[in-house]
Amino acid sequence: MDEKKRPAVNPNFRGAGKRRQPISAKELTEGVLSGNRVMLGRAITMIESKKPEHQQIARDVIEGCLPHSGNALRIGITGTPGVGKSTFVEALGNHILDGGKKIAVLAIDPSSQKSHGSILGDKTRMAGLSAKANAFIRPSPAGDALGGVARQSRETMILCEAAGYDYILVETVGVGQSEIAVHSMTDFFLLLLLPGAGDELQGIKRGIVEMADLIAVNKADGEGVDLAKKAKREYRNALHLFPPQESGWIPAVKTCSALEGTGIPDIWDVMLQYETQTKDNGFFAEKRRKQAGYWLEETLNNSWKQAFLADPELKNAWEDIKEKVEAANLSPFRGAMELMDLFFTKNRK
Ligand code: GDP
Repeated sequence: MDEKKRPAVNPNFRGAGKRRQPISAKELTEGVLSGNRVMLGRAITMIESKKPEHQQIARDVIEGCLPHSGNALRIGITGTPGVGKSTFVEALGNHILDGGKKIAVLAIDPSSQKSHGSILGDKTRMAGLSAKANAFIRPSPAGDALGGVARQSRETMILCEAAGYDYILVETVGVGQSEIAVHSMTDFFLLLLLPGAGDELQGIKRGIVEMADLIAVNKADGEGVDLAKKAKREYRNALHLFPPQESGWIPAVKTCSALEGTGIPDIWDVMLQYETQTKDNGFFAEKRRKQAGYWLEETLNNSWKQAFLADPELKNAWEDIKEKVEAANLSPFRGAMELMDLFFTKNRK
């Protein structure tokens, strides 16, 4: 029958001719390793899929890519909405591309499900960068919880490195927990702030400032120049009050205009200096080792819980016990032990 005349209600017809052929983990791995962006995109879709068969493929691809990963400099960028993160990433990204390197831009935005992708979701953002052959841009995965979103981004980072990207920029919004996730998967952490917000440091969680390897006061242009300089001085003074970093690195404070491109090369130099210094003193490798341990633990915590909740009987027991604990009829410790016992009894072969 002519394809076009097929009745739309035919269940076999839905998507006929459009559906992509299933792809094997081997083909995807080879595609990623050869730097094929379409294959990289498809492999990331497997990471983000909830289907067990996709997850298996994703695990195999990650396994195949792991030995080829780890060579990029991983840069985390945070700041409140409107501070200029996208504009900054576009400017820094172009500066890096001008140096003949390849960059991948990822985002972690646990709120993206509600706001339909507030970071990188809007196609008009980073329009210049996304058109460049040596740049790969991937919006935040929509996950149920930060843990899932962060794990997917970390795995995506591994694939991007295996695909030959030299620098990975991971952007996140200044909302607390997501910074910790980004910090735990990157080598260098940049905090973007606004000028004229003298009180801003108080508004930003102290922990985030402590994590920063560089504070950049953005929008240092036009009338913002003087304010930005003043803010820079204030932040620099405030940073003296923080304990010294384990890395031996003294956090830098800079001003820039992402819009006009001023200060961007200077900031890039700071990042490269950090890389050299921490590679020389051994901190770089040490931090990566600790991060790997942290991710093992995070993944284990998540898998454990997932395995538990995937079993309806265990899930019910969990809910029952939770109710009892909340009603103070059972202590949380006793409740946890009962759940563990149930899990082991059920899984004992
Ligand atoms: P994000 O929400 O942090 O990603 O911020 P955007 O990059 O979307 O920028 C928010 C607004 O600030 C936009 O209107 C930008 O054009 C503007 N903006 C970003 N960087 C600069 C800058 O360096 N100077 C000025 N004057 N405006 C900027």
